[in-house]
Amino acid sequence: MKRILITGAAGFLGSHLCDRFIKEGCHVIGMDNLLTGSLDNIKHLFPLKEFEYYHHDVSKFVHVPGDLDYILHFASPASPIDYLKMPIQTLKVGALGTHNLLGLAKAKNARILVASTSEVYGDPLIHPQKEDYWGNVNPVGPRGVYDEAKRFLEAITMAYHNFHGVETRIIRIFNTYGPRMRVNDGRALPAFFSQAIRGEGITVFGDGSQTRSFCYVADLVEGIYRLLMSDHHLPVNIGNPDEITIKEVAEEVVKLVGNPDAKITYKPLPKDDPKVRQPDITKAREILGWEPTVSREEGLKITMEYFKEVVKV
Ligand code: UDP
Repeated sequence: MKRILITGAAGFLGSHLCDRFIKEGCHVIGMDNLLTGSLDNIKHLFPLKEFEYYHHDVSKFVHVPGDLDYILHFASPASPIDYLKMPIQTLKVGALGTHNLLGLAKAKNARILVASTSEVYGDPLIHPQKEDYWGNVNPVGPRGVYDEAKRFLEAITMAYHNFHGVETRIIRIFNTYGPRMRVNDGRALPAFFSQAIRGEGITVFGDGSQTRSFCYVADLVEGIYRLLMSDHHLPVNIGNPDEITIKEVAEEVVKLVGNPDAKITYKPLPKDDPKVRQPDITKAREILGWEPTVSREEGLKITMEYFKEVVKV
């Protein structure tokens, strides 16, 4: 039985990864400090003997008894309002946390996959974004704490691969959505769904002409699984290239929820908000044989059902 450590296990992506690797027949060790995660996301796993949970901040030395085959490093605040509120923790988990986990991978002879982000491309000047684009990041802007921590994560991961021969994988994750996103995490889809369900104003920032490309979580998890099992150590974009403006996606959510009280309202655009974002997934298609299969229509419906259950009206 393969043993896998998943950091950020109680978070949105981490909890779906725990489910997936339990299904694959692994022994899963979930680790989280619950800064932004919630045990509600993994409480169904607690009765399983194949699942263990450690409450720990991976920015501090990480100890795991026994062998490890794989490590997935998914611990980090991931929403712009979270990293504005927790800039130091965001920097530490991306930098010190990644260092600790690479050290653990080296000590255990484990393969490690680290979660990077489309934010390494910043406010991109190349569109769509390919892995060989170096990005346009403001290091001292509000997003710098996340973007630069993730750029450091990539650099130190490559260094452990090149210098210590650790088996490393780097995924660049584009906007992802689905059940278990935190209702008040401030990101576009949780905000729009909870506002539409409560019949509040839908807060579109700026004029809503900025674009994003939203990937349903099950597609992302499949991409992560395939990348971990591949032999490719350079960064790979995983995301859905189906690009849409924020105004249009807000309109889709309003229509889907069907609450007549929910109307679009416009708020100021946050500083350094990327104007466009769309992954070029040629590499994922060629190397992993992966591409998204869940349409936005389908994914938004499943996500709406989740938010209807958890949003308090
Ligand atoms: N956004 C918005 N209203 C909100 C939250 C976000 O218009 O209540 C916009 C935000 O300015 C950005 C896009 O939606 O242009 C996606 O934001 P999100 O926070 O989901 O993640 P990002 O892709 O910016 O990291």
